[in-house]
Amino acid sequence: MATVELKNVRKTFGRNVIAVDRLDLEVKDKEFMVLVGPSGCGKSTSLRMVAGLEEVDEGEISIGGKLVNDVPAKDRDIAMVFQNYALYPHMTAYQNMAFGLRLRKYPQAEIDKRVREAAEILGISELLHRKPKALSGGESQRVAVGRAIVRKPKVFLFDEPLSNLDAKLRVQMRAEISKLHARLKATTIYVTHDQLEAMTMGERIAVMRDGLLQQVDQPLQLYHKPTNKFVAGFIGSPTMNFIEGIIEKTENSLVFDEGLLKIEIPSRYYKSLNRYIGKPLIFGLRPEEVHYLDSAEYRKETAEIPATVDVVEPMGNEAFLHLIAGKSRLVASTRTSTLPQMGEKIKLTLDLSRAHFFDKETEVSLL
Ligand code: ATP
Repeated sequence: MATVELKNVRKTFGRNVIAVDRLDLEVKDKEFMVLVGPSGCGKSTSLRMVAGLEEVDEGEISIGGKLVNDVPAKDRDIAMVFQNYALYPHMTAYQNMAFGLRLRKYPQAEIDKRVREAAEILGISELLHRKPKALSGGESQRVAVGRAIVRKPKVFLFDEPLSNLDAKLRVQMRAEISKLHARLKATTIYVTHDQLEAMTMGERIAVMRDGLLQQVDQPLQLYHKPTNKFVAGFIGSPTMNFIEGIIEKTENSLVFDEGLLKIEIPSRYYKSLNRYIGKPLIFGLRPEEVHYLDSAEYRKETAEIPATVDVVEPMGNEAFLHLIAGKSRLVASTRTSTLPQMGEKIKLTLDLSRAHFFDKETEVSLL
């Protein structure tokens, strides 16, 4: 069993930088957990504390149920893959992969077996005699992953391992690391700033901001039930639309009033929003719920609003429409082949069955 548990962990640098604050996170045995958040949110520091490369100021870190705060990195039975691969330039791929095992005085036959096995899994058997300068970025990354695999550690830690690769290779390596995890079934913590990488790879995702954990959940839960406006805006691309306004009560319904736009709210939200009548809040709707032309009749909870087209971005399979509606800016993603012109006045159908509402002050989700 290799659970990784962080309890009330805090790390500061100097007097002013609180890199990680009150972090509680439990990574289950064999789980693939992604830590995601914008630059500087504390994800690398959290990972480095688990690795033993950074000391903990306060709180406890346990691996496999054993407190490791005072256990040196080399005795934690973890292997880490870094962004810059950190391969030794004067060693061949084989020697790089064998290095850690040599240090630990494994028998030569065992080292050879493990390196060749790992190379086979990663499809780099033909490259083992090459030095890093003769390897492409993707190949170097495989060697770096191979060096971690041969150790057969309890826990794998990845720190932005794909960020030096070009977009196409990144997508390929993403799938390979996921497959590798399915095969090796080792507990994994994977750090990235890329929400798409997090969504596609994580069994669960921990979203961080300014050293604080915002939400830990399965990818689709994060997408559909974000706990606050930050998570709602960080997960998903293009980002969720946010419109500021107030909730008003009319004779027999609730209306969201943006100033120039009025949107009648479906009754399913009344219970959550009743206590917000007259108060400012933020209405959120993802671009795929803002429909142009393809507003199918079967949708029940809809509202129609007028908008002016500002910019059209055709992508081939879909297009992003940047729109001005009332006082607000909106983005719609559409798959229709009939695209509007810049400046055109159009009608939008908002699918409100997936609407979000956030407190304007605290930004916490009201649903
Ligand atoms: P990135 O994606 O840019 O690597 P991150 O989310 O991994 O960001 P960390 O590297 O964990 O963030 O940094 C968290 C905060 O701690 C940042 O404000 C950073 O400047 C600060 N920090 C990190 N390491 C040190 C250090 N050795 N000395 C001083 N401040 C540090």
